[in-house]
Amino acid sequence: MGTPVTETIWRRLSADGLRRTPQREAILETLGDSGDALPLSVLLERSRRRLPGLGERTAERTVALLVGSGAVDAIARPAGEVVYRLCGRGHHHHLVCISCGAVAELGDCDVGDWADDQAARQGFLVQGHDVTVHGICAACR
Ligand SMILES: [Zn+2]
Ligand SMILES: [Zn+2]
Ligand SMILES: [Zn+2]
Repeated sequence: MGTPVTETIWRRLSADGLRRTPQREAILETLGDSGDALPLSVLLERSRRRLPGLGERTAERTVALLVGSGAVDAIARPAGEVVYRLCGRGHHHHLVCISCGAVAELGDCDVGDWADDQAARQGFLVQGHDVTVHGICAACR
């Protein structure tokens, strides 16, 4: 079962050798249904509705594994709290509301060329970048 979004993710994960386990399924589907960025505590609580008995340590390890595989994004809110979100595929960044903490996904990234150019002036060969845009969301304005 699962939403189309999570089915796509499962195909990707199985290509990476990650089996479909009840724990991974509960967490991915909870994030997929939420459509929102969730702190670990909320993610755990909601995932338990799908998988009663899901332990905190297991949930932590599962989330870490899904983040490591690129299936789930970990985003730091301005106050330092980390939230997890199931995003679309491909390189992207996030908008974070400094008032309510809402997270949205930004579209095409234009940072690469600029970063390459700026870094090359200092003899750097760029290997990647982190960008988070902080602002006030439509609901908070
Ligand atoms: Zn994302
Ligand atoms: Zn907001
Ligand atoms: Zn980028």
